[in-house]
Order: sequence, then C-alpha cells, then structure tokens
Amino acid sequence: MRILGIESSCDETAVAVVEDGVRIRSSIVASQVSTHAIYGGVVPELASRMHLEAIDPLVDQALMQADVGLNDIDGIAATQGPGLIGALLVGFSYAKALAWARHLPLAGVNHLEAHICSLQLLDNPPGFPFICLVVSGGHTNIYHVKEPGAFTLMGQTRDDAAGEAFDKVAKMMGLSYPGGPAIEALAQKGNPEKIKFPRSMLGKDSFDFSFSGLKSAVARHLHETPEMSPDIDDDRLAHVAAGFQMAVIDVLSTKLIAAAKKKKCADIGIAGGVSANRTFVDILSERAEQHKINVFSPPLSLCGDNAAMIAARGWEMIRNNQVCGLADDVYSRIKFTVDDAN
Ligand code: ATP
Ligand code: MG
Ligand code: FE
Repeated sequence: MRILGIESSCDETAVAVVEDGVRIRSSIVASQVSTHAIYGGVVPELASRMHLEAIDPLVDQALMQADVGLNDIDGIAATQGPGLIGALLVGFSYAKALAWARHLPLAGVNHLEAHICSLQLLDNPPGFPFICLVVSGGHTNIYHVKEPGAFTLMGQTRDDAAGEAFDKVAKMMGLSYPGGPAIEALAQKGNPEKIKFPRSMLGKDSFDFSFSGLKSAVARHLHETPEMSPDIDDDRLAHVAAGFQMAVIDVLSTKLIAAAKKKKCADIGIAGGVSANRTFVDILSERAEQHKINVFSPPLSLCGDNAAMIAARGWEMIRNNQVCGLADDVYSRIKFTVDDAN
C-alpha cells in the first residue's frame, strides 16, 4: 500500500511517499528555519503562509521523485495535531481535499506517534515491546510501545521540553536558532565536568521531566559568574554548553534506562529533533549496553519533522480503518494522561 504523507505542524513543510509503512520512495522537507531565525523562533502567521506556498509544488515533486502518479497512491496521511493551528490547517485541509477528490482514505496523524514511527523506517527497527522517548522542540514524552499503534505514556515534561531548553539556553548564550545543533557544536570544545548543573529527577520512580530549573541555573551562571562578563570567555562558554548538554543527557538516559528495566524492554528508541544529538545517542547507547539494552535512533533525515514518519503512522491507521472524514478538524494540543498502571 502506497501512502502520501503530508506534514505541516510547525516550520517544516514535508511530503513523502512510503510503501507498506516501511519503504521510503521519496521524502522531501522544505524547512523555513532561515526565515524564522531572524526572529529567534517560529512566527506562526509567517509559517502558515509559507506552507501554503510550498505544499502544492512539494506534492508534485514527491510524486515525481517516487516515480508515481496520484493514481498509484492508495491513501493519504496528514498531521492533524498537535502543532500550530494555522500551519496544521494548511496541510490537513489540502489532504482532506485531495482525499475527497480522489476517493482515498485519509488518516489524521498524531505528530508525536509519527515521531515514534520514524523508527519503523529503520532497516533494523526496535522490537516490540520497547520504550520510546519523543524528545523535540515541544515535547519530552516517554512511551511504552507494546505493539504497533499501542502507545502508553509513562511520563512527560512538567515545564520546558528538552529541545526548548536547548533553544532557550542557546538564546541566552547568543548562539544561533535553532539552539540544539549550535550547543552541540560548542559543547564539543568544552569539558562537561567543569560546571556541574543540577539534574532534576523529580523522585526515583517518576518518569516526568523538568528542565526549567536547569535553564535558570545556566542563566544564573551566565549572569553571576564574574569571569563571564563583561567579556565572555569562549572557553568558558564551551564549558557551559557542555555542562548543560550533559545535564540534559544524564536525566534523559537515567529515566529511559529505568523505564526499560521497569517494563522489561530490551530496546529503547529515541525520536524527534533532539535525537539528532550524537553525544546523546552515544552516551545513552553506552550506558544502556551495560544493562544489555539496545538503543535505536533515526538517521538525521528522520529526526526532525518529516513526512515519511507521517506516512508510516498513517499506513498503520488506514490498515486499521482509523480514518478521517471531511468534518474532522486539526487540534493544537493533546491532553496527555500518564497511565500509572502501565
Ligand atoms: P514537536 O515534535 O514536539 O511538535 P517540533 O516538531 O518543533 O516539536 P522537532 O522539529 O522534532 O520539534 O525538533 C526541533 C528541536 O530539536 C529544536 O528544539 C532543536 O533545537 C532540537 N535539536 C535539533 N538538533 C539538535 C541537536 N543536535 N541537539 C539537541 N537538540 C537538537
Ligand atoms: Mg521544526
Ligand atoms: Fe516534531
């Protein structure tokens, strides 16, 4: 079954053609990052307009690259939420219209479940059941994935998402947007042991996260350390980046391994923008190995927002007849409930 996937929840317009939920025939991402960078964050209205301009030519391009026509498409999957309402509306309305015109089934995909499904596109995917962390600009959620399509939330952030913390700390340090890659690059030149920032664990048995205290600690360090001002020393800034990054990695890795042990899972997956962080992948893999747990992470092209993951999740949904009608609408947020019993 060939699915056309469409993603427009934030600042990437993406279209992909995926076969049977696993084989990527084409996957194109048009990023708006450079447009929003001058504002230091995503400007919603600007994002919607850019999606509108990009979407139609991108669909043509994705079909062409996959060497198929619309007649060869068996279903359409588009992000329904969560995300920016105006941005979501562009992709989802486009998908609704196309599905209606071509008499095709339409899946309204949850963007976070799609991030998890980016792992099923790997040549060697994690085995069920597994633990998955969706770690991105808007979320830090730990899921227990029992079987395809069965996602149980075990914990989430109580304040900032990990990616958001990277972005905010980068901004404080005068680094470019988005902050994750900038901090990772700077951290390479620093010593992660030099400045010990706090790790907020929220109790031994909790799978929730909190990054606002860490962010404040970095802010205090930047403002209060005499060596930092008025002339900020480059070496010291690298130590701050490395210390901050290690604090985030430490918390994420500790909780992931604890979740895997609690659920007796041999595999841990990570997905979302922050899973592009090599230092995180390496340290988590190293620590997990000591517990005989394997770590799976997407290639760079599937870490951030893309439409191949949307098509992968949409394939599962369409196969299970979880389809949308014309009356269905986008949603900006999901009310998460952590299932303590699971
Ligand atoms: P969500 O998926 O929660 O709706 P989003 O789609 O905006 O949010 P993604 O596009 O998946 O999030 O990820 C973007 C985030 O990933 C940004 O916060 C960015 O700083 C972070 N990020 C990207 N590369 C890295 C990296 N190498 N290290 C750390 N963070 C990174
Ligand atoms: Mg993005
Ligand atoms: Fe995302």
